[in-house]
Amino acid sequence: MRQIIIIGSGPAGFTAAIYAARANLKPLLIASSVEAGGELMNTTEVENFPGFPEGVQGPELMAKMQEQAERFGTEVVYDDVTELELTGATKTVTLGNGEKHEALAVIFATGSAYRKLGLDDEERLSGRGVSWCATCDGFFFKGKTIAVIGGGDSAMEEATFLTRFASKVYVVHRKDTLRASKIMQERAFNNPKIEFVWNSEVAGITGTDAVDGLVLRDTVSGAERSLPVGGIFVAIGNDPRTHLVHNQLDLTPEGTIAVAGRTSKTSQTGVFAAGDVIDPTYRQAVTAAASGTVAALDAEHYLASLPADLLASAGETVLATSTN
Ligand code: NDP
Repeated sequence: MRQIIIIGSGPAGFTAAIYAARANLKPLLIASSVEAGGELMNTTEVENFPGFPEGVQGPELMAKMQEQAERFGTEVVYDDVTELELTGATKTVTLGNGEKHEALAVIFATGSAYRKLGLDDEERLSGRGVSWCATCDGFFFKGKTIAVIGGGDSAMEEATFLTRFASKVYVVHRKDTLRASKIMQERAFNNPKIEFVWNSEVAGITGTDAVDGLVLRDTVSGAERSLPVGGIFVAIGNDPRTHLVHNQLDLTPEGTIAVAGRTSKTSQTGVFAAGDVIDPTYRQAVTAAASGTVAALDAEHYLASLPADLLASAGETVLATSTN
């Protein structure tokens, strides 16, 4: 059994790991099998993380966080958590490979997942012109006319980035004002390849084998029209990844994991949460990192309060490995 397991490998998870490892708690960090490093792995330049006046590439920042966590003794496993048992003093984490790990404390830092429009066509044409990640897929849209959906920082960032490849980028937004920060708005407004389509929502995506256009509905008049495009990037925000804990931890009305006040304490003793999975508002790399710090400190205090014999039982044993 471990003292602590951290689930998630974004800024919250790795910062929690740095603190927990420096407190000699020998954390095991479960990074996803396919999305290790979290959302910053899909970002290009990060200009607002303190300490990098020239900016830093998202994947490079994550690699540095991981290096720092490992330097102090964090063990990183690349697998997906398939099941969690969080009640009771001992928590059990089951991985995709069948291994079960036990710990006295768990920090849950699973971040958030891309929000979808919820259209049937979106699923049908996923990977055939519908994408949620410009840095992953932008290259495939060289010379094409494409649409980015959304009015936040993500949409501005994606649209601006995609002008490197696309001949034209429409930004389709359901209102006539943007939610994005001023600096990101200005960058998009000043880009000659970007054209804004205001007060419009996506009613349908057309194309048989690949996207060939959008059906747009005017949010004021209700009128529909088609817009020919060769691709669509959905950038309408994210939803917290909480499916593993739905029946075990209390959630907020926004769908994030509920924590007590400014702490990381969830409704389950010994379970702490950090990063985007608890944050419906700020959702920045730096706030996620700070939240990871809070979780590690809370977990450290919790562990220190446990009876000595329970703590002594926290070795580093893998319980069982399934053979399938
Ligand atoms: P936001 O929640 O900020 O914005 C989502 C946008 O998508 C809004 O304009 C919203 O419209 C629109 N939207 C939501 N649902 C739908 C829907 N079903 N159909 C059509 N449009 C929809 O999310 P972001 O991902 O843009 O940003 C999240 C956080 O990450 C923010 O704090 C942002 O600052 C940060 N961020 C920072 C970056 C940077 O600084 N480099 C880059 C990217 C993100 P409406 O406005 O009408 O609600």
